[in-house]
Amino acid sequence: DLLVVGSANADLVVGVERRPGAGETVLGSDLALHPGGKGANQAVAAARLGARTALLARVGDDAHGRLLLDSQRAAGVDTSGVLVGGAPTGVALITVDPSGDNSIVVSPGANGRLTPDDIREPSASTLLAASRVVSTQLEIPLETVEEVVRGLRPGTRFVLNPSPPRELPAPVLAACDPLIVNEHEARVVLGADAGATPEEWAGALLALGPRSVVVTLGEEGALVADASGTARVPAVEVTAVDTTGAGDSFTAALAWRLGTGESLADSAAYAARVGAVAVTRQGAQASFPTAEEVAAV
Ligand code: ADP
Repeated sequence: DLLVVGSANADLVVGVERRPGAGETVLGSDLALHPGGKGANQAVAAARLGARTALLARVGDDAHGRLLLDSQRAAGVDTSGVLVGGAPTGVALITVDPSGDNSIVVSPGANGRLTPDDIREPSASTLLAASRVVSTQLEIPLETVEEVVRGLRPGTRFVLNPSPPRELPAPVLAACDPLIVNEHEARVVLGADAGATPEEWAGALLALGPRSVVVTLGEEGALVADASGTARVPAVEVTAVDTTGAGDSFTAALAWRLGTGESLADSAAYAARVGAVAVTRQGAQASFPTAEEVAAV
């Protein structure tokens, strides 16, 4: 079983001709409201593929929180670990201009109140103990991710996508199997001497302590690396219309396949197919495929 520990946000999206300057008001399109946040996205992506999935997260006692719970349940995610209250649900305020460029303000809200204490609660410990794979990101406090690492049972696999990226403490790095990064995340986690090629990033990241590393490369596919070597995972050729959620669906699929006992390379090849389908459709959660849809590409 897969446990995702992470963020849940309401994405509020408005199209604008141009962004307002200070003190200025511009009129935008009708508001679109979507369930999002990396944790919520990963849980929905995995469940839609057929993975038994639970989400450990915090939302507000408000309409956005109910929207997020509804979308998780509709996908078949176990929401017994979703805590309610303490702050408003996290929100991403997104403006999109005619060229498709986004400007985003995130209010972490309840995501910032998912605390190490919440991870130590019996209900959370039960979920952690029942999971083969635990997948996290960094839209919740780093101390909370550190507590998840401390709470791992022997044999439970820990997957981290450090997004938004920052430098990581050694115990978190050492637990990752794999650490999953795109180019930007690789550069931030590595700091100054990142190197120039994905192979170099992967090598430098492995030297920081994770048992394995996956570098995602968008339309170029991905690269997997562990003590036994480094291998390229070719991308599936598709016509991309919206890359939102590609990384989240890739990570979720990879984490699930690893939990079934598949190798890192095979899991990544499957995840690349999932990511490829996701980019052929608009939106994040709305773009995530079922296993049947993945089999068809
Ligand atoms: P992120 O969204 O975190 O930056 P990527 O853009 O690297 O992540 O996408 C994650 C994975 O999704 C890639 O490794 C690749 O397998 C797949 N993917 C992303 N964009 C495309 C694309 N244009 N064509 C095919 N596959 C893609």
